[in-house]
This record gives sequence, C-alpha cells and structure tokens, in this order.
Amino acid sequence: MAGISLLGIPNDDNSSFMRGPAEAPAHIRRELQSDAFNLWTETGVDLGVPGRLADRGDVLFDGTADPWKLIERAVADALDAGAPLISLGGDHAITHPIMRVVRRHQPRLTIVHIDAHPDIYQSFQGNPRSHASPFARIMEDGLADHLLQVGLRTINGHQREQQKRYGVDVLEARACTGDFQLDLHTPVYLSIDIDGLDPAYAPGVSHREPGGLSTRQVINLIQAIDQPIVAADVVEYNPRCDVSNITAVVAAKLVKEIAGMMVMQRI
Ligand code: MN
Ligand code: MN
Repeated sequence: MAGISLLGIPNDDNSSFMRGPAEAPAHIRRELQSDAFNLWTETGVDLGVPGRLADRGDVLFDGTADPWKLIERAVADALDAGAPLISLGGDHAITHPIMRVVRRHQPRLTIVHIDAHPDIYQSFQGNPRSHASPFARIMEDGLADHLLQVGLRTINGHQREQQKRYGVDVLEARACTGDFQLDLHTPVYLSIDIDGLDPAYAPGVSHREPGGLSTRQVINLIQAIDQPIVAADVVEYNPRCDVSNITAVVAAKLVKEIAGMMVMQRI
C-alpha cells in the first residue's frame, strides 16, 4: 500500500497583512516527529509504520519560475504516484494551484473549507492571487462541484454576493454548535485554514478572529468525513505569531488525524 504523501509549500508571497506562513512546514514536521507524542491517531492508525507517511520535502521556489507552476508540478508528481496528498502551507493562496491538479484526478469533488474567512474576494489589494481570493479562482475555474465553507465569521457584503454567485454552501461559526454533520456525496478535498480555529486554541495565525471552532470540533469534523479524502492542505499557520509552539502542535495533530482517515479509507 502506498503511503500518504506530505508536501511542504513554503510560500506566503500573497499574504495581505504579514509574512510568516512560509516558515510553517518545518515547524509542523518538527512536532510530527517529536518524541513528546506517539504517531498513533485517535482512530487507531499507527502512522509510524514504515512507508505510511512519505515526506516529499518542500517545493523549492527559486525566484525565477512562476511559483504556481512549481506548486502544480510538485502536486502532480505526488498525485501521479497514486497516494493521497497532504500539503503543509504556506498561506491560503496555494490552494488554487493545488486544486488545478487535484481536479484533473477527480471528476466529482467537494471542497470542505474550514476558515474564519471566506477567501472569496474577486481580488484583494489588486491581487487576484491574494490569500483572500483563492476560492473565487477555484470556483470560476470550475475546480470543484461543491464548496462547503465551515467556521466563517467575517463575511462582508461583497463576499456574501460572491458566495451566492458561485453557489457556495456556508456553515457559519455561529451555527457550529454541538455536533454537526456534513452532508457529503462525492470525494472530498479538505482545506484547513488554521485561523478557522479560535485563537485561544491556535494563536499562531496572521489574522486572529475570536469566536472560532475548538480543536475538538475540527478533529471531530475530520473524523466524520464519510467520503474519500483525496487530498488536503493545512495552511496559514504563522510561527512568528505562535505562543510556545501551541499552534504547531495543533497543526501537526490535524495532519495526523487527516492522514489517519486517508489510511483507513484505503485499507
Ligand atoms: Mn484562508
Ligand atoms: Mn483565514
């Protein structure tokens, strides 16, 4: 059985407010490999079995080639190998080039997007590649059949119009009380912006937005996905804003539980 691929995408060129997410992959890997934790998931999968996690390293941005082309090439190499992929961001802008490749492998696809923000501005600060805009690019390119956004708590008028225009389903943070079940009918791409969690749980983000999801809610949501997770990203962790590496540990925990679901779905 092929393992689950990990790919670091250290790029924050399109962050609107501060830099730092490009430094995230190394911190998440450190916590994944830390002797403080074992590699079993809550769902009973031992990710320490040799070959279960195949780390493909980081995309190398050389400053000359278009970063989007470099991301697409690395993601294509990973998916062509036949294993599910978890990308470690980077800011949320990287989800667009990732999806351009994922869609080629998936004629039916739902994106489950956890975030404080809709990230669906037609363009932000004049940048159509902004980390505030990837889901506008994804939907106008037809890269998913459904987009389900969970945990939002910053929607403005323009973004509500954009959600209507692209037929986006939204589960706002204020509706995320108790246990909630997602209604999924196709394979899933899971995109987790760490700021979807409340900053009390995950302070290491560029845009702290109170009133978010708990770590427990996000893990339960991951474990309740009853369709194949074909690929995922964990983005927007900003080590420069972290407190005692709390958020790095949270990001590593989410990566583990996603990988565990991917392994179980392939056994
Ligand atoms: Mn985001
Ligand atoms: Mn966000």
